[in-house]
Amino acid sequence: MKYLEITEKDRLLVQAAIEVVAKHYREERHTVGAAVLCASGKIFTGVNVESVGYGPCAEPIAIGAAVSHGEIELTVVVAVQGGTAGFPVIPPCGNCRQLVWDYAPEAAVLLDKDGDLIKVGIADLLPMAYRNFYDN
Ligand SMILES: [Zn+2]
Repeated sequence: MKYLEITEKDRLLVQAAIEVVAKHYREERHTVGAAVLCASGKIFTGVNVESVGYGPCAEPIAIGAAVSHGEIELTVVVAVQGGTAGFPVIPPCGNCRQLVWDYAPEAAVLLDKDGDLIKVGIADLLPMAYRNFYDN
């Protein structure tokens, strides 16, 4: 797995995810914040929402916000856990890996590795990803 260079913008992205989850954290719920950096330089954020049966993760909320504003080129995605544990960067679930790959197969994801922020391509997190071959 190739590690990509961490930029100042990446650190701002983590901070944006922390800010959104800190602002909307609900102790009685599993709360995650996500932030998406677009090629335009804009950052979009979101928190997960829950229901008894299903609730989207924070990543699709943030990606949906970006897409809703006409952003089609997503470059970096990050998610952080809410609560009192210091807002650790957490990896995307399997569904979110597929979602990021579907929208932006060249995008990178920020992760925590032994306390260090690392950045890897989504293709490294989802090898041999499902895709609709009729799209090619
Ligand atoms: Zn997810």
